[in-house]
Amino acid sequence: MADVVLNSVVKRFGEVEVIPPLDLTIPSGSFSVLVGPSGCGKSTLLRMIAGLEETTAGTISIGGHDVTDADPSERGIAMVFQSYALYPHMSVADNIGFALKLARKPRDEIRARVKEAAEILQLEDFLDRKPKALSGGQRQRVAIGRAIVRKPKVFLFDEPLSNLDAALRGQMRIELAELHSKLGATMIYVTHDQVEAMTMADQIVVLKGGVVQQAGAPMALYDAPQNVFVGQFIGAPKMNVFPGRAVDGFEADQIGIRPEDLTPAQSGGLVNGTVVYSEHLGAETIVHVRTGDIGRVVMRLNGNVALTPGTHIAMTAAPKAVHCFDASGARMPGGTAA
Ligand code: ADP
Ligand code: MG
Repeated sequence: MADVVLNSVVKRFGEVEVIPPLDLTIPSGSFSVLVGPSGCGKSTLLRMIAGLEETTAGTISIGGHDVTDADPSERGIAMVFQSYALYPHMSVADNIGFALKLARKPRDEIRARVKEAAEILQLEDFLDRKPKALSGGQRQRVAIGRAIVRKPKVFLFDEPLSNLDAALRGQMRIELAELHSKLGATMIYVTHDQVEAMTMADQIVVLKGGVVQQAGAPMALYDAPQNVFVGQFIGAPKMNVFPGRAVDGFEADQIGIRPEDLTPAQSGGLVNGTVVYSEHLGAETIVHVRTGDIGRVVMRLNGNVALTPGTHIAMTAAPKAVHCFDASGARMPGGTAA
């Protein structure tokens, strides 16, 4: 088991500071997800942990050992990338065992460890196949198998599901979460997809411009986002945010209400407007409402709700679902209107 501790780590590419001093602890055995928009420094941070990218300042330790200047092979990590680049002329078994062969491990040991990884990943029936005779999901599992056989203390994943179609991504999310509970290893997973973060993580770390915006359990971030950015990044459709002054009785500069926390009001209501469009998804209806003074508001209702364009509608929310932010976007003391 191994925790990963980043202590005031900095990354500069020439003059450009991509990661300002950053502190972060990845608990041993956790599934931690680094999430944020493209270009926020997720891959850079992961590559620094892997030792593939030099750390400009600060220290990185894994399992209590300072590895800041250690070679990647000495860190006890294995990395899985988006483009998994299997060797096309090698069988699945040889692809999975390749790192062990390079390390000149005995044949019997290689065979046993490949078999073990194949069982975990349900690839036993495919060990003699070449990669071209596999589906996308099976190929990605082979790439994960290459990491598993090395028995790393820490797995590093960089957007490993981005090349898969939506259905397969959904399936692989579950498989990776199961893999984590089977292996009990520390896993650090990078993605721009908040759904992947919410479904797999014990700990989510939201990054923006190389700065940690908030770190914590998925539902903690959902229930109490520390700023507007986190509030809108976690959850889909994203949180509605509008000027607090626009709503009677609110002192906050900005207030945020999630689409699923809005309900039609019989009379009065916090906000009102005209239905522009309804998305009927069967299990839920996403209603887009144009209001006079606060722009578009999105409401998410359970089931199939008939709200045709042009309908006038008033909406309300429970006080504890009204998030209060100051002018800078920071969550206000107390957090909600409750
Ligand atoms: P993410 O993975 O979150 O999309 P990256 O870590 O790849 O973001 O990149 C973060 C920032 O660092 C980006 O602005 C990117 O252009 C910059 N960057 C990444 N690698 C290099 C490099 N080798 N040289 C210069 N800038 C880089
Ligand atoms: Mg990246």
